[in-house]
Amino acid sequence: MHQDVVIVGAGPVGLFLAIELAVAGVRPLVVERLLEPDRTIKAGGVGAVAAEALERRGLAPALDDEARATMALMGPALQARFGAGAVKRPGGHFSGLFLIDQSNQRDPHRRMRFVAQEPLERILAARANELGVEVRRGVTMEAFEQTDGGVTVQTSAGPLDTKYLVGCDGGRSRVRKLAGFEFPGTDATITGYQAIVELDAPEKLAPGWHRTPRGLIASGPMLGRVFTAEFNGPPPNRDAPITQAEVEAAIQRVSGTDVKIRTMTMATRWTDNARQATTYRMGRILLAGDAAHVHSPFGGQGLNLGLVDAANLGWKLAAALKGRDNLLDSYTAERHPVAARVLENTRAQVALMRPDPLTSALRTIVSDLMKLPEGNRYFGEMLSGVDIRYDLGDDPLLGTLAKDQLLTLSNGGEERLYVLMEKGGGLFISPSERSLPTGVRHAHTKDGISMLVRPDGCIAWTDASSNSVDDALARWF
Ligand SMILES: Cc1cc2nc3c(=O)[nH]c(=O)nc-3n(C[C@H](O)[C@H](O)[C@H](O)COP(=O)(O)OP(=O)(O)OC[C@H]3O[C@@H](n4cnc5c(N)ncnc54)[C@H](O)[C@@H]3O)c2cc1C
Repeated sequence: MHQDVVIVGAGPVGLFLAIELAVAGVRPLVVERLLEPDRTIKAGGVGAVAAEALERRGLAPALDDEARATMALMGPALQARFGAGAVKRPGGHFSGLFLIDQSNQRDPHRRMRFVAQEPLERILAARANELGVEVRRGVTMEAFEQTDGGVTVQTSAGPLDTKYLVGCDGGRSRVRKLAGFEFPGTDATITGYQAIVELDAPEKLAPGWHRTPRGLIASGPMLGRVFTAEFNGPPPNRDAPITQAEVEAAIQRVSGTDVKIRTMTMATRWTDNARQATTYRMGRILLAGDAAHVHSPFGGQGLNLGLVDAANLGWKLAAALKGRDNLLDSYTAERHPVAARVLENTRAQVALMRPDPLTSALRTIVSDLMKLPEGNRYFGEMLSGVDIRYDLGDDPLLGTLAKDQLLTLSNGGEERLYVLMEKGGGLFISPSERSLPTGVRHAHTKDGISMLVRPDGCIAWTDASSNSVDDALARWF
C-alpha cells in the first residue's frame, strides 16, 4: 500500500510526530524494530517547551497525573536536598549547579515536568492509538531508495512505498547514515553510566549530585538510580554489552567507596559525543530528534529538543503533502540553530564539570553569576528553551513559542490558548473580523492585541509586526 509518511522509530519523537501528523489529517505509518517499548532508564523529565507542545494537544492532564505520581515517590528525597520551593518549581540544573530559581524567569509557570521517558512514551503511544496511527512493532527499516515522486523503503517485513520518510530512529540513525547526511561535531571525551541498582550498603553513597576528585556521581532521587561520569576518555567499546562489574567499578572509582552492586536492573552507557546533521532534510528524507542531533544528557535537554522538532515538522509535512513542499525548508532553518545552541551549552557543562582545581575555580565564578537574577534567568530560559526565537522579523514576540494564556472572547466567555489549539491548525487571535484560509481558525477576542499562531505554537504575526497579516497567512497557510 502507498503511504504518505513512514516514520522510522516509535521513540518519543517518532510517536509525537505521528500525533502531529494525525492531528493535521495525515495517517502516518510508524515502523519500530523493538517488539516492546524500551524500558531502559533515560530522561527523567520533559523540558518546558516540549511539555507545552504536548499541552497544545490536550495532554496536560496525563502529564499532570504522571508528574504527581512521580513527585509522590521522589518528592521527599528532593525536598530534603533542595528545599520545598525547588520541589514546587523545579528549574533544572546547569552542569550540576542546582541554582536555577523559576521565580527569576519572565514567566515562572513555563517549567519542566517530572515525567520520565517511559511514562511519557506510554502517554504518547496511547494518544497515537486514539488518533488511529498504526505502529508496526518488530519491523526494522533496512534500506531505502529515493525517487522523484517518493521513497521505496525496504523493511524486515517487506517493501513500503511512501511520499516522505522521516528518521526518528535515534542517535545512531540508520536513516541518517544511509541517506548520507553529514553529521559533524566533537568526539566523546567522557564515559558515563546511568543504572538502576540494588547496593549492598546504599548509605555509602550520599544522595544528590557530587563532584569528586575523580568525576561525578549522582544518587537518587528515585530508588536505586545511580549516574556517573568520568572525564578521562570515551568508553573503549561503546557497543559492548554493559556489565554489572563495569558499572560497579565506575561507582567505586568515582565515589571512592567499596560499595557493591547486588543486582542491576538496567543500565545505559553515555558519552559527550556532540554532533548535528548539517541539514534535517534531503529531498523526501527528513530527520528529527536524536537522529538529527546528539549530545551529553547534562541539563536534560534531549527530549525538549526532539519533541519540539516534531511539533515544528508535523504540520509542515502535512502541508507539503497538499503541495506546499517549500514550507519544509523552514524546518532546518528554524530548528538547526536551536539544537546547535544546546550542543554548545552541553559542551560547556562538560567543561565545567571536570574534576580539577582550575575547573573548581571556574565553577565558583559561574555559580556567583547564576545567583544574580539576570544570570539566573539566562541559564533557566536557555535550558528550558522558552527563549527560543525563530528568525521571523523584528517584533520581539515574532518567532517565539506562545505561552499558554487565558483569552477573553467576544461572546463573554474565556478560554485558554492551548485548549483552542488542541485540534491542530493555526489560530488567528483578534477582536477584528477577517476572512481566513482553510486551516486557520479565528479566536474572536473581546479586546487586546491581534496575533497569528502557527500549529506549532510559534507566533507568526502580531499587530506590531512590520509585515501584514496577509503576508504571514500566505507564507504559512
Ligand atoms: C542516560 C541518559 C539520560 C538522559 N536524560 C535525559 C533527560 O534528563 N532529559 C532529556 O530531555 N533527555 C535525556 N536523555 C535523552 C533522551 O533520552 C533522548 O533525547 C530521546 O530518547 C530521543 O528520542 P528519539 O525518539 O529521538 O530517539 P530514541 O528514543 O532513541 O528512539 C528511537 C527509536 O527508533 C528505533 N529504531 C532505531 N533504528 C531503527 C530501524 N532501523 N528500524 C526501526 N526502528 C528503529 C529504536 O528502537 C527506538 O525505539 C537522556 C539519554 C540518556 C542515554
